[in-house]
Amino acid sequence: MNLVLSGGTVVTTLDPPTVTSADVTISGGRVSAVGRSTASDDDATLDCAGCVVIPGNVCAHHHLYSALARGMPYRLDPPQNFVQVLQRVWWRLDRALDPDSVWLSAWTGGADALLSGTTTIVDHHASPNAVEDSLDGVGSALERLGARAVLCYEVTDRDGPDRAAAGLEEHRRLVKAMRPLQAAMVGAHASFTLSEETLAECVRMAGELDTGIHVHVAEDEADERDSLARFGKRVVERLAEAGALTDRSLLAHCVHVDQREAALIHEAQAWVAHNPRSNMNNRVGWAPVAALGNRLALGTDGIDGDLFAESRTAYWRAREADASVGPEWAIARVAASARLAGALCGDPLLGRIEPGAPADLVVLDYDPPTPLTSQNLPGHWVFGLSSRMVRDVLVAGETVVRDHRLARLDETELRARGREAAEALWRRMDEIDAHPFEPVGAAG
Ligand SMILES: [Zn+2]
Repeated sequence: MNLVLSGGTVVTTLDPPTVTSADVTISGGRVSAVGRSTASDDDATLDCAGCVVIPGNVCAHHHLYSALARGMPYRLDPPQNFVQVLQRVWWRLDRALDPDSVWLSAWTGGADALLSGTTTIVDHHASPNAVEDSLDGVGSALERLGARAVLCYEVTDRDGPDRAAAGLEEHRRLVKAMRPLQAAMVGAHASFTLSEETLAECVRMAGELDTGIHVHVAEDEADERDSLARFGKRVVERLAEAGALTDRSLLAHCVHVDQREAALIHEAQAWVAHNPRSNMNNRVGWAPVAALGNRLALGTDGIDGDLFAESRTAYWRAREADASVGPEWAIARVAASARLAGALCGDPLLGRIEPGAPADLVVLDYDPPTPLTSQNLPGHWVFGLSSRMVRDVLVAGETVVRDHRLARLDETELRARGREAAEALWRRMDEIDAHPFEPVGAAG
């Protein structure tokens, strides 16, 4: 049976911005036609009059494991820098996770993403005291919700060699039992918590699994200082020499890369995930976005799953620094995130609404107050659209959000379970000290 999204204003692609009035016909999980529908009586119809239909957004860098941190108490001395944020907050939270809270974190963060119009999540997972089967937990929660995902485990030496080895092995388990709508990368934390041996193992695993490496790069100056002190080279040079910089690598942040590193990234055609809200929240600085090229995608770094909010902030932060930046730059970043996901999932039409493309679609309750055209879509995006307008969401043709609510399961019960798990998680965190791991290299 076909499903016809009828009577909407359809954004067929964000790059270049293209708007048309059309019905969208879906069959077998894919878009089969865009234009005047010739629906038969057997076809189901979703009335989209007065709505805008867009390709589903992609979050290019997420940490679903942090979803139960919202509103958690903090009782240690306030962190003074980024490394202390990790030591006192995130490296305590990740060690407090157990299999149940891993599942509920992924469910909570995944639900938030879908309800915000994000259909694909590129996740970076860490749960050092519950490594084994953790990606299966994340994958199972996202499968239940109906989201598309690219998963990996954050390999690091900060919790000792056994956990580094377990983190690596977790990728093999993931690939052996891969769920539909999911793909794998090899996750690595960041240069400053990786030995030469462990980094080499990550590169070897990426080769074995035929995928790329997803790693934090120069999020804070401390990452560069550590690499210079330990190896006499900058982070991206280190990654390139280790074989970790390819056209399938995904580098999160890149705030402190210099021109030579930006050139290496460009040469390798690696992807970069820009996370402006997280960077502002952690006071790590602003990435040199102009130098990072057209493979610059957008992530939320665990803040939430809302790419409307992230792309707006990306625009305003870039605009504050450079008056020549326009809204079209921001939505080209959203388009780049979809191209990244398309490359990782082997589905190059992801992020477009055209025949053959996967039917990952979002229906926005947006009856524009001014004319909406291909030319001015970027202005509507940055100044008008928001996740509160997300009415319906489809992933691979399946309705996963219907009329602002999750369609496939009862939210109420799982939200109650999530709140209970959060309280227990916060209690366990209270028993865990700041992480002792320190990067090398003194602050300048
Ligand atoms: Zn991150």
